[in-house]
Amino acid sequence: MGKVTGFLEIDRQDRRYAPAGDRIRHFREFVIPLSEEATRDQAARCMNCGIPYCHTGCPVNNQIPDWNDLVYKDEWQEALRNLHSTNNFPEFTGRVCPAPCEASCTLNLTDTPVTIKTIECAIVDRGWQEGWIVPEPASTKSGKSVGIIGAGPAGLACAQQLARAGHEVHVYERWSKAGGLLRYGIPDFKMEKHLIDRRVQQMEAEGVVFHYDCEVGVSVPPSQLMGRHHALVLAGGAEKPRDLTIPGRDLAGIHFAMDFLPQQNRRVSKEPIPANSVPPILAGGKHVVVIGGGDTGSDCIGTSVRQGALSVTQLEIMPRPPEKENKLLTWPNWPLKLRTSSSHEEGAEREFSVMTTKFTGSKNGQVEKLHCVRLDDKLQPVAGSDFELRADLVLLAMGFVSPLHEGLLEWLGVATDKRGNVQADTADYRASVDKVFACGDMRRGQSLVVWAIREGRQCAHSVDQFLMGSTTLPR
Ligand SMILES: Cc1cc2nc3c(=O)[nH]c(=O)nc-3n(C[C@H](O)[C@H](O)[C@H](O)COP(=O)(O)OP(=O)(O)OC[C@H]3O[C@@H](n4cnc5c(N)ncnc54)[C@H](O)[C@@H]3O)c2cc1C
Ligand code: SF4
Repeated sequence: MGKVTGFLEIDRQDRRYAPAGDRIRHFREFVIPLSEEATRDQAARCMNCGIPYCHTGCPVNNQIPDWNDLVYKDEWQEALRNLHSTNNFPEFTGRVCPAPCEASCTLNLTDTPVTIKTIECAIVDRGWQEGWIVPEPASTKSGKSVGIIGAGPAGLACAQQLARAGHEVHVYERWSKAGGLLRYGIPDFKMEKHLIDRRVQQMEAEGVVFHYDCEVGVSVPPSQLMGRHHALVLAGGAEKPRDLTIPGRDLAGIHFAMDFLPQQNRRVSKEPIPANSVPPILAGGKHVVVIGGGDTGSDCIGTSVRQGALSVTQLEIMPRPPEKENKLLTWPNWPLKLRTSSSHEEGAEREFSVMTTKFTGSKNGQVEKLHCVRLDDKLQPVAGSDFELRADLVLLAMGFVSPLHEGLLEWLGVATDKRGNVQADTADYRASVDKVFACGDMRRGQSLVVWAIREGRQCAHSVDQFLMGSTTLPR
């Protein structure tokens, strides 16, 4: 703990956003970093608690007080080494993590948690700027080969750990580039994609081989990979979207969020939109309704606003959460409370406790209206509360049910749990089929980037143990 009285003397200060009027004109990141001096001051606020709740609040168990202290003492390179010892990709989490660590910080009891995510991002961004982040190839090879299906954060973290342990690692990815939902779901204004490219370059220099445009179970038979590798890791995400099967669902202009968002991300990076995808979906000049209140819905709002939507309304079936949590009941856990994203601030209307009962449209089959009803606190319709909403484009962002079962999972015959995810526990990440492992959203269901990184790392530990009989990889 660098400065004993830091938390008493220094106010919390966090990164700011560029003004909404400016940032909606482009798709680039708009978070303004703190200066080096301000970051150091913020790190000085950490109290190095006897029980650091932030350790367990953070899914990768980042050693937060340690690197806060190192930043305070101006030992940035050592802070980076410490950070990388628990997190392969802090530049991803430093941008898109919801920061459960800050919810569990002791200073959050007075609503002034240490700006942990900002400090994490500053450490790793500085590491890249200074050239401290370089490939770390294994000094000896194990002679074992691992196939990883899916290049999202779980597959990437698993691949990097296993390559550094000396294994030959091949990553098979259906899309043309690595990153999974980090690249194709999360918009560039939250995280620019060159950050993924440079990690991929680092991993290639460490020996990881990427096979793109390669859908295992469709263009590549799983039997080929089972024969080629000593172990196979399933990291294919949870891609089956939750649908809204109400009258009018088949009208034109109603799309899943994940048909809409990847198109825009590909436009930004000038990657061709695949020929087999739905025709271009654009919000410009339209009244847009987003159904679903999570991260995906929020990303649909920010993307629609940037495309020039006339209006954006977000509907959430659940009641409006409280503005503030009751700390004595919730701390140090992640509280249910109203969260307003940067996209919400860019001009969306939000409606809570609303259920859509049907869509109606024009004679030529284009959606024109949503028919809705308000719900009471028991989620029952309130009599006489029906209303209509105009919509030219409806985006369904109600979450994801499970991984896709057709193709890969059916062929392998792996058991699934009652939610339809690949069955494997977090003790060893082993699926029901010999030498097959599973991690990330494909195992745990729709989740967060930081959980995917944790599972990828822990799964690598298990695979290494399985291949070699012992392992020095951390869990
Ligand atoms: C729009 C959106 C916004 C989000 N925003 C946030 C956020 O702000 N913060 C946050 O923490 N989390 C966010 N999430 C959640 C987060 O992105 C996921 O939890 C995380 O990416 C899961 O990582 P994963 O590696 O398990 O799976 P994924 O990222 O889904 O990657 C799986 C990869 O496997 C590939 N694949 C699947 N099947 C095959 C196959 N048969 N053959 C070859 N390849 C295959 C897919 O193409 C994909 O690239 C968001 C999700 C969405 C959809
Ligand atoms: S990964 Fe997320 S939870 Fe962990 S320290 Fe970073 S922001 Fe906090």
